[in-house]
Amino acid sequence: MRRDDAPSAWGGYHYEPIDIKAGRGWEERDGEVTGFKTHYAYQMMFYRDLLQAIQGYAPPTARIINVDQEIEEFDPAEFEDEYRSAKAEVERLVAGEEQSEPVLGSHCAQCEWFGRCRDWADATDDPTKVFFIGRTKFGLKQAGVRTVAELSRIDVQKHLAPPFKIPRMGKATLERARRRAQVVLKGEPEIRPGYAFPEAGTAVYFDIEDDPTRAVTYLYGLLEVAGTQTPRFRYFLAEHPDAEERAVREFWDYLAQREDAVYYVYSHKERTTLRRLMEKYGLEQRVFERYVQAEYDLYQKLVVDYSDWPTYSYGIKQIAKQVGFAWRDVDPSGVNSIVWYNDFLSDPSRREVMTRILEYNEDDCRAMVAVKRYFEERAKQGDK
Ligand code: SF4
Repeated sequence: MRRDDAPSAWGGYHYEPIDIKAGRGWEERDGEVTGFKTHYAYQMMFYRDLLQAIQGYAPPTARIINVDQEIEEFDPAEFEDEYRSAKAEVERLVAGEEQSEPVLGSHCAQCEWFGRCRDWADATDDPTKVFFIGRTKFGLKQAGVRTVAELSRIDVQKHLAPPFKIPRMGKATLERARRRAQVVLKGEPEIRPGYAFPEAGTAVYFDIEDDPTRAVTYLYGLLEVAGTQTPRFRYFLAEHPDAEERAVREFWDYLAQREDAVYYVYSHKERTTLRRLMEKYGLEQRVFERYVQAEYDLYQKLVVDYSDWPTYSYGIKQIAKQVGFAWRDVDPSGVNSIVWYNDFLSDPSRREVMTRILEYNEDDCRAMVAVKRYFEERAKQGDK
């Protein structure tokens, strides 16, 4: 953005870098502002460095445009030391003076390096092959726990106090990590008894697709399963961002009419999105509250609470594959759905693109059915 409030090498003006973000810069917890996102700050500070090299001036503040299309400002001085040290580390990595290590996690799903990182993790038996270890592996390694095999045998008591204490890992977390490491080594899921599914006239497997870059929710996909009838897939769709309100209102009518349904989802995203849309469009709160009561999160209430899996991520793609489910699409992902939606918007005559979006969403719903059925089968076999 051109600004006239300070000179630069160009004359009586300068340029300021502003990035457009799909989120908010200032973070809050319990209504309190906790700080500006570090990764946004570093990015803007790097752009400032680049511009300063060209125009000989960097403005004293830095700004982004957030998902609400508002300008948010932060003070680069507050990040200066850590930014310089991060940049120096990157320079050492680029120069080959230092090496970084992969940290496997759900963030790897879209990453083009995944094949190489997974091979490296297999070859080194890296602890991030275990779900939820992530960056805590660096603390584990410092404490002498360098591999999945070592994690599977970890002496929890020894690591509860200095000098072997591992940051952010208490007794329960260590025991869970040890159990999950044992499952990874065994190569088979472990299902714990005690789970139950609510009684329902109709089980509805529900998945939302949205595009944060356009701040639009474009698809509500629902696979209805009632008794022995053939499952029925239905959906509410905004073929254009302008149709978001119409689509969500139609979906609200659907919810209002389904008193007997239980909604199976695989994240808290559906609930969060519906709450936001309710507030945005003034939709009936009673309908939302009924939905919340009837929602069952298979990820949290079932997979995380009652099982362990030999995989670094418990995302639906990983877990459903473990139970033998396959998507029809060759490259199924939420991010690709957004790309396809944008392809469709640029050329709405390409109906095959919309079909691909719908089939992907339907398969996400069917993947949930497969995971739930797997648990039902295991319960019948006596795991419950
Ligand atoms: S695959 Fe995962 S660990 Fe490897 S570079 Fe990508 S995000 Fe990092």
